[in-house]
Amino acid sequence: MLLLNNSVSTAPGVETRNAKKLNSLGIRTIEDLLYSFPFRYKDFSLQKNISEVKLGETVTVRGRVLEIKSVPLRGRKNLTEAYIEDETGSIKAVWFNFMMPLRFLSKGKYIQLSGKISVYRGKEAYFQHPNFELISKTVYDQKQKLSSKTGSTSGLAPVYSENRNVNSYFLRRVIQKTLPQITLQEFIPANFLQEQKLPTLQQALNDIHFPENIKAANLAKKRFAFEKMFLIQLRALEIKQQWEKNSASKINFDKKFIKNFVDSLPFQLTNAQKKTSWQIIQDLEKNKPMNRLLEGDVGSGKTIVAVMALLSSINQGFQAVLLAPTEVLATQHYLGISQLLKKYKFQIGILTGSQSKINGKKISKAKFLEKIKTNKVALVIGTHAIIQDKINFNNLTLAIIDEQHRFGVKQRSFLQQNAMRVDSNAQKKLPHLLTMTATPIPRTLSLAVFGNLDLSIIDEYPKGKKKIITQVIPPEGREQIYQFIRQQVSVGKQVFIICPLVEESSKITEVKSAKEEFGKLQTKIFQDLSLGLLHGKMKPKEKEKTMRMFQKGNTDVLVSTSVVEVGIDIPNATIIIIEGAERFGLAQLHQFRGRVGRGSDQSYCFLFTSNNVSVSTSRLKAMEKTNNGFKIAEEDLKLRGPGQFLGTLQSGVPDIAMESLSDLKLIQSTRLYAQSLLKHDPTLKKYPLLKNKSDLLSEKIHFE
Ligand code: ADP
Ligand code: MG
Repeated sequence: MLLLNNSVSTAPGVETRNAKKLNSLGIRTIEDLLYSFPFRYKDFSLQKNISEVKLGETVTVRGRVLEIKSVPLRGRKNLTEAYIEDETGSIKAVWFNFMMPLRFLSKGKYIQLSGKISVYRGKEAYFQHPNFELISKTVYDQKQKLSSKTGSTSGLAPVYSENRNVNSYFLRRVIQKTLPQITLQEFIPANFLQEQKLPTLQQALNDIHFPENIKAANLAKKRFAFEKMFLIQLRALEIKQQWEKNSASKINFDKKFIKNFVDSLPFQLTNAQKKTSWQIIQDLEKNKPMNRLLEGDVGSGKTIVAVMALLSSINQGFQAVLLAPTEVLATQHYLGISQLLKKYKFQIGILTGSQSKINGKKISKAKFLEKIKTNKVALVIGTHAIIQDKINFNNLTLAIIDEQHRFGVKQRSFLQQNAMRVDSNAQKKLPHLLTMTATPIPRTLSLAVFGNLDLSIIDEYPKGKKKIITQVIPPEGREQIYQFIRQQVSVGKQVFIICPLVEESSKITEVKSAKEEFGKLQTKIFQDLSLGLLHGKMKPKEKEKTMRMFQKGNTDVLVSTSVVEVGIDIPNATIIIIEGAERFGLAQLHQFRGRVGRGSDQSYCFLFTSNNVSVSTSRLKAMEKTNNGFKIAEEDLKLRGPGQFLGTLQSGVPDIAMESLSDLKLIQSTRLYAQSLLKHDPTLKKYPLLKNKSDLLSEKIHFE
């Protein structure tokens, strides 16, 4: 008997040589083999004798070629015509402008034809552009056994994705031989499957590979989607449960004090800001650490929400830290927050690779660290340089990470587990943790991928935020935009020109294309303007310098690869051009666009397309219509699937779960099942198989 975790080399008919080939498809164990699902089925189920085919139906026949020829038509066009016969009759097959059959078919060959039966001006019925496959005489003879009325039980043939080493037929054969030999144990609680009317593992594996009918195949697929999503949710909730075992300091909500602060702001909070800060404040009042994700589009006003939490914390004598991924962003936060909290006279410092300051005064790093240790500084703002240093907080209760996706997972968990561990009265306490992201991720996806976090979403923009005027520009429209740029620069505005490439792997080409564009613009188009160039191959110091020059207004036009900061605030930059826009997902384009529109002046985004790709330009039109990141993300999820979002989230979600990532119902129901299970059995004592699966999953998917 075979077990799921046996090596695939133990599968019947697989020798070492074949096992290697299978490895190249990522198939290492029997489980990998059986979980390699067909992506479609060839439907030979409606197989008929030639005399029985009916007009309009899509049908398969087997027969022998009687005759095949090419018929020239007017204007260099042609038809390929063939006559096929079996014992019951003959039928014509017609291919328009398609010569391939002539190469493969000749009189006397046995073939299988699948396609639609049509008729032309009431003449004889014929196969219109059918698929064909050469078959052997033996296969042809088998046809006699098929009842023409019932079709065939094996009418659906699975088709697997293949590569150079392994073809679909081989996989089909191996799986067919393996399935009957395998011992399978169900690991999903039986009552869940019954409630959801889903097949058992055994049944589902049979049905997904060799279904009786499409309905059975779909049901099997549903089971596997349920299985994967259930495991993902279970794992996420286990991690959450684990996290909540830690203790943290309560940060009481001083209503009067915070209200006073809010009243002093030059604007009114949006409802979304009120709602999310309330969620955070309630978390802080608990003695278990918060682990919450604050999701809000660029410009939705996350900072002020973060500041309220920070202020709550330091006002009670606790320390807090705010981390940003880069020097520029950290500095921006330091200046902005110092200004906002000026009247309270807290000690607020910035600590980065190259800065070390408290309340505007330079101080040595060693002294800064000493002050942190002795609770002489309340709020530390910095880059992840902070985490790498040996840093000892005296009384840290709140850590906020801005643009969380820019931090590596390792850095984050290091932050949670070591650097920030607080010792108070010999009791280990974790700081409350708030991560923020400007990537608008559809709600379904967030629930699936950040299942271990609590979620707060700012889905609203501050009043009076101007819509960024967005236009898709075909090549012939460029010159006009360049004119517009020149005119805007002449009144003091600044411009981003982004030359991004899609693939991570092509960083070098991306740099090259930015350099080329820079050269072209400087020598041919904007000779009279001052241009800057920014790309990923530059040293961090150079990058910072270029960025600062632009921020100060010394550069008119910044040509850049996709490295420009997401959260950067340059109110004077009012135009952004994105080259080759048609190659990007809408969500990505929206991210780029967020770099303008920071000030009160009207901003513009021009999506330059390389050529007249009408399909993608119509897709790009969505960008012209809305500025709402969540709407765009939802649209993108529909158009391009979840893969692109997961890329930025660095998660290894299995294929079948990927497909269901937009299925809100499935995500919610699996989450409820996982919750109810853990509620009754937090360690999954009664479900060792399930526990095992969940543990294995943690090697594949990491949660934030
Ligand atoms: P992000 O969510 O991208 O971090 P910020 O917090 O930087 O956004 O806010 C963007 C701008 O909007 C800032 O200049 C901020 O002062 C301003 N802002 C934030 N909240 C409001 C509000 N409720 N009304 C008006 N302006 C606001
Ligand atoms: Mg921000």
